[in-house]
Amino acid sequence: MLIDGAWEKADQQFDVINPADGSVLEAVPDGGADHAVRAVEAAHAAFPAWAETTAYERAAILMKAHALMLERRDELARTMTLEQGKPLRAATTEVRYGADFLSWFAEEAKRIEGRTIPSARRDQRFLAVRQPVGVVAAITPWNYPVSMITRKLAPALAAGCTAVLKPAEATPLTAIAMMRLFEDAGVPKGVVNLVTCSDPVPVGKVLTTHSKVRKVTFTGSTAVGKMLAGKAAANMKRVSCELGGHAPFLVLEDADPVHAAKGAQLLKFLNTGQACISPNRIFVHRSKVEPFVATLTERVGRMKAGSGLEEGVSIGPLVNQAALDKMSRQVDDARSLGAGVACGGDRLTDGGLDRGFFFAPTVLTDVTPDMLIYREETFGPIAAIVPFEGEQEAIAMANDTNYGLAAYIYTRDIARAFRTFEALEFGIIGINDINPTSAAAPFGGMKDSGLGREGAHEGLDEYLETKLGGFAI
Ligand code: NAP
Repeated sequence: MLIDGAWEKADQQFDVINPADGSVLEAVPDGGADHAVRAVEAAHAAFPAWAETTAYERAAILMKAHALMLERRDELARTMTLEQGKPLRAATTEVRYGADFLSWFAEEAKRIEGRTIPSARRDQRFLAVRQPVGVVAAITPWNYPVSMITRKLAPALAAGCTAVLKPAEATPLTAIAMMRLFEDAGVPKGVVNLVTCSDPVPVGKVLTTHSKVRKVTFTGSTAVGKMLAGKAAANMKRVSCELGGHAPFLVLEDADPVHAAKGAQLLKFLNTGQACISPNRIFVHRSKVEPFVATLTERVGRMKAGSGLEEGVSIGPLVNQAALDKMSRQVDDARSLGAGVACGGDRLTDGGLDRGFFFAPTVLTDVTPDMLIYREETFGPIAAIVPFEGEQEAIAMANDTNYGLAAYIYTRDIARAFRTFEALEFGIIGINDINPTSAAAPFGGMKDSGLGREGAHEGLDEYLETKLGGFAI
């Protein structure tokens, strides 16, 4: 753990497991409430000096961190593949995406501007300035171990905030590598702190209740996010949450079903389906179901599962046994209620895969609203096809969820694209586009998918207070 610029051990350690074969990769310190308190105090002590640096000084350090990320790209990607399971190529792409936040917010730091406001009084002047909120507590998930860190810490540091990071239990090694990188980039001691732990409860309690934490930023499940946001709000801390999703993927009547199926395959099975913006319900106009399913199934059938370090592997393991059990439960439930299984449907065990948490990439057809998969976030490699008849029906079904993160539309009709874009209650919408994300674009959800946005100007606002000066002259 990194606390006040010193690397610390703890009395206990916990093992980091490779989900591809169950082997132990390394043991890391198992921190507790006392470590979290010291980390918050270190961040608080470091805050005044960091907040006083110029935007140009902070930008230079962030740019150095960006350069180091690219320099260490292969090493970071390998660490991620080992502890998280995603294929090396996908891990490398994530390092590049994660690095983008550092350069984008380095530039944006220089544009934290205030404004003057005309007064109704001749002897008065108003000045509104933006200042860093203070100590930030950042809690991150395991599915995107590196980019979820930079998406939070880059804007926090750019704004002049200091931070305490608590990464997921499954992926602390990537977080440790990133902390070393921040140190090497010249981030002063105490400005970023790291607490690793196997039990998130005591550390989470400190981070959401300590009087010196001014802001909590969380990415993870909706249940945990609601609980943490409730605690933080009760202590009047600013909160932003990036939570679960249940993305609809709409293939409208005029869409090219082959093109749409290619997009669905690339997107659905990315990170073995363990992405918050992964399509969970694929609504296909009844007239296009046959070619869509044929293309999707053919492409899915060619995917190779295995360790992410192996050449040609496009589908890695799930994170743990609980995730495997969830896949079986959703498939069994759908089958028993009348869904068809076009491919996959079971755990993969041949060729040593039984040592890891592998589930076959699966295509379910004729999925209906009474099935678990229609409501519950899958977070795994199952594509659920729901046929529909009319555009209004598809929009109503797509919006029929408590989640509101990402949605996708396939159509060749511009008017239909606009209508659907406007009617969908989701924060991020890809129109014939399977990757509507970038450091420069606001990312976040409506409804139970979260509060606030990350990336873009909005992502920086989350770490800034507005202060008003009224000057009588
Ligand atoms: P999770 O169980 O909610 O965990 C997320 C983080 O919260 C982990 O660091 C976890 O620590 C920590 N945590 C859990 N209980 C806590 C508590 N009582 N106090 C403090 N911290 C606590 O979610 P996950 O399974 O890691 O991630 C998957 C979820 O994240 C999915 O729902 C996915 O959709 C969502 N997600 C959303 C976005 C987005 O941008 N909207 C991006 C990625 C993922 P431990 O690991 O130690 O349990």
